[in-house]
Amino acid sequence: MTAANAPATGLPVSFEFFPPKTPEGAEKLRTVRQQLYASKPEFCSVTYGAGGSTQEGTFGTVQEILAEGVSAASHFSCVGATRQSVREQLATLKSMGVRRLVALRGDLPSGYGMGGEFHYASDLVAFIRAETGRDFHIEVAAYPEVHPQAKSPEADLQAFAAKVHAGADSAITQYFFNADAYERFVNDVRRLGLDVPVVPGIMPIMGSSQLMRFSDACGAEIPRWIRLRLQGFGDDTASIRAFGLDVVASLCEQLRQRGVPGLHFYTMNQSATTLELCRRLGL
Ligand code: FAD
Repeated sequence: MTAANAPATGLPVSFEFFPPKTPEGAEKLRTVRQQLYASKPEFCSVTYGAGGSTQEGTFGTVQEILAEGVSAASHFSCVGATRQSVREQLATLKSMGVRRLVALRGDLPSGYGMGGEFHYASDLVAFIRAETGRDFHIEVAAYPEVHPQAKSPEADLQAFAAKVHAGADSAITQYFFNADAYERFVNDVRRLGLDVPVVPGIMPIMGSSQLMRFSDACGAEIPRWIRLRLQGFGDDTASIRAFGLDVVASLCEQLRQRGVPGLHFYTMNQSATTLELCRRLGL
């Protein structure tokens, strides 16, 4: 079966946005969201700049999504934060009606220093649970191709387990283009006796240079054949888009056949590519 003729399966989808920086960006994102709501997302999430740099934009966008009648998750990073600042932000999110968080360590810009009272995302998850009980559904990040700062794959797996033991309900992965890496990671998680859903994060391919920059920074591997093909297309955006859709739709189909609990799309605040992927997958 190809992705193009796959039947609809009711596989849950979720969409990730970043907070827009301008009023025009906010208006465009409203349109993008309305288009994506056709796929009936389980929730939409909004990223959070490390050090709280986007707090206003993140919470504002989350509030808009809730007002549109859609479940919203606020990303929440703890690097540079204090217990008191986190406590206050949790109270704000709760009063807004937010019930789902993506709890992260985050990355501070270089030269910023670590600072803050939390070292790892597991510290944040434990704190949220201690402060707010079961008020929030807590998602955490997972890295099938290993987080770039991890001492070893085993150490990274143990770091993931620590987040689950601290109280995480489910996980969303960094994006990847190799379904085997995902499957191996999930098998390792299950071997540790952890049964949390691990939802693959899907990066639609919309351009070449941005994807390569992102991937180098976050440790996501672009297989050589994909990298070479993308480079070969040069500025031919139509060919990049067509090729990218084939590659990512095929990845999603492989993941669906392996029984993933859902798909989380990194929309990059654009609707066309993600919508086309959902259409091809019958979602
Ligand atoms: P952690 O789980 O704390 O892991 C960070 C590193 O520390 C890993 O290398 C891990 O192996 C290691 N580690 C963990 N615990 C220990 C320990 N006890 N001892 C030694 N080493 C340890 N970033 C943002 O700034 N804003 C966002 O909104 C955002 N959203 C994201 C959403 C998803 C789904 C994903 C996958 C990533 C997101 N990120 C975001 C990026 C993320 O903040 C970075 O990848 C960051 O470097 C790690 O965050 P974490 O929560 O995975 O950290």
